[in-house]
Amino acid sequence: MAANQRATVAEYRSVTGWNIAWRGVIRSGALQEQLEHLQAQLDMVIFQDSVDAWHWNFGTDGLFSVKSARSHIDLTTLPANNITVRWLKFLPRKVNVFLWRLLLNRLPTRWNLNARGVPLDNIMCAVCAAVPDQVSHLFFGCSIAMDLWEKVRRWCQIHIPIFSTLEEVWDWIDVHQGFSNHKVVLEVLIGSLLWIIWTYRNATIFGDGSYRRDMLFDNLTKFSFNWYTSRNRKANRNWNQWLMNPTMN
Ligand SMILES: [Zn+2]
Repeated sequence: MAANQRATVAEYRSVTGWNIAWRGVIRSGALQEQLEHLQAQLDMVIFQDSVDAWHWNFGTDGLFSVKSARSHIDLTTLPANNITVRWLKFLPRKVNVFLWRLLLNRLPTRWNLNARGVPLDNIMCAVCAAVPDQVSHLFFGCSIAMDLWEKVRRWCQIHIPIFSTLEEVWDWIDVHQGFSNHKVVLEVLIGSLLWIIWTYRNATIFGDGSYRRDMLFDNLTKFSFNWYTSRNRKANRNWNQWLMNPTMN
């Protein structure tokens, strides 16, 4: 970011304060905020009259080690609670990886990117533009999500509660006794539903506008059927039964 990256700290520091020339003009937004934050931190630093040197703060001896970096990253990025990741063998690998990232809140939503320091002009939901682009909103609260969840409720004719996290979804499937026969089907349906919301959301940002909202439920029925039956030799559902109610057999 600085124009002269080889300058010493002493060259950047004058008697009147910090004197750093930046490569680009920092006008506004997240970058400006970060710069102010940085300057506030720098103002608190007390200097010693010595040669510039690197110091690693996350070990005990001031020296960098992979182990200390790793434990710092784990400590600051991994969720504190023990979330169990499940691998659903009837869903494609890409959907499983997506669900895993959703569970750990590691999807590159605008909100998450912004939280990691990526400067963005807009952090609102790409679908409704009314609420910040957070996973709890996109997959559970956005109008597009509410609509799909409601359609699945009617399609399966079961009471599906309103969730706010994927963890809640998996907990609900696990504790619901009546689902023993179609637990796997529900996992496939819900995994497909979430995947379809994510791909639609991405299409609204990066696509050519050809993915229409009224295609979502049709895609959900098709994808979930194809994935479930093609990966499951014991699948005892045909397409007509699936369309009627995938949780009945
Ligand atoms: Zn939305």
